[in-house]
Amino acid sequence: SSNNLQGYAPICLGLEDFYIRRLYLRIQDCFGRPISSAPDAWFDVVERYSNDNNKTLKRTTNISRCLNLGSYNYLGFAAADEYCTPRVVETLKKYSPSTCSSRVDGGTTDLHNELEEKVASFVRKPAAIVFGMGYVTNSAILPVLMRKGSLIISDSLNHNSIVNGARGSGATIRVFQHNVPSHLEEVLREQIAEGQPRTHRPWKKIIVIVEGIYSMEGELCKLPEIIAVCKRYKAYTYLDEAHSIGAVGRTGRGVCELLGVDTADIDIMMGTFTKSFGSCGGYIAGSKELINYLKYTCPAHLYATSISPPAAQQIISSIKVILGEDGSNRGAKKLAQIRENSNFFRSELQKMGFEVLGDNDSPVMPIMLYNPAKIPAFSRECLKQNVAVVTVAFPATPLLLARARICISASHSKEDLIKALEVISRVGDLVGIKYFPAESLKP
Ligand code: PMP
Repeated sequence: SSNNLQGYAPICLGLEDFYIRRLYLRIQDCFGRPISSAPDAWFDVVERYSNDNNKTLKRTTNISRCLNLGSYNYLGFAAADEYCTPRVVETLKKYSPSTCSSRVDGGTTDLHNELEEKVASFVRKPAAIVFGMGYVTNSAILPVLMRKGSLIISDSLNHNSIVNGARGSGATIRVFQHNVPSHLEEVLREQIAEGQPRTHRPWKKIIVIVEGIYSMEGELCKLPEIIAVCKRYKAYTYLDEAHSIGAVGRTGRGVCELLGVDTADIDIMMGTFTKSFGSCGGYIAGSKELINYLKYTCPAHLYATSISPPAAQQIISSIKVILGEDGSNRGAKKLAQIRENSNFFRSELQKMGFEVLGDNDSPVMPIMLYNPAKIPAFSRECLKQNVAVVTVAFPATPLLLARARICISASHSKEDLIKALEVISRVGDLVGIKYFPAESLKP
């Protein structure tokens, strides 16, 4: 329990910097009695997101200003944006924060229709449907598409929303080794013969689910190879682009654009608006038939309140900026910047001797700590030097593969990145996680 929680203001104005308040908790049992020898615990909460250079915040000893290396604000749209923010504010006044209705009971505004058209054309699919939450997009759609008698083949590191959606569908689930197309083929071959017509199979439907960029690995999906396998075995493809849409590709259109994949080869394209677009919600894009089917049958569309109009406006506006439809070249600059920032940060970390996972161009870069005991020291020492990083451990990763997960944004300046690298280098020496000494990296 804490009597300090009124200090927590979850208002998201911008994510390059944030303030942290340390909350001290007295650990009690369910009758409110202090648990005998347990010391007071503490945790840090994000007090206030701001890009206002600390003009308004009263400093107290508990609050420090940190550089945020953990947020998914890949293009910086979650900070006050000169094009998006005034339009979001106008929408808030015109429509209010919520429609208070489901899509089919009066919760569809012109903005919802515009958003779906915009998303479909952005991801180059005939149609799209949007939901108020990215997590729900996966977990509610899969049970509509798949059922008992269908087969889901899922990458072993797919996100929990996919895992839960798959489990909830009642379909049979098989897992293939993370990002290994030859193992996917093995699993498919166990289930059906290559080239076997759909009508002669033991499964009503087979769907293969992958992600564009894996959020704990920073790795790009081996999409061309996976599509080739799916075509050979006539399996449907489902691609979650939560971390890749808007973040990679020449015009921000995700891994398909980056890897030269025709979106016609992906049956179901899923993504979230909580990362590159600085908003909330998720989408499914696909054929008109698929989207119409979902609109008539998906309970999360029929029975849940529609996505908030200001959130919808934020997405529409940020896509317009990405595509240059705001009349500026800011979108193109942001895309070039995130790529440059990511590749710079990754290569500098590697030069310092850190083991960094993931691929070039990916803004997600896990630094391996391995031993979970190194987590508290690493994050605490970074935080002491005003750099906030997210650390990840079991059960999100295997027990001995703990890591710090850096997320790079287009809105990090070069000075920010250099400062962060200096801090991470010092902390890396202190904690002992430079596995490749700099001399050994010299040619
Ligand atoms: N899919 C993936 C791959 C994710 O990483 C996440 C969350 N980070 C989600 C879905 C859920 O998205 P949201 O946070 O927008 O609900």
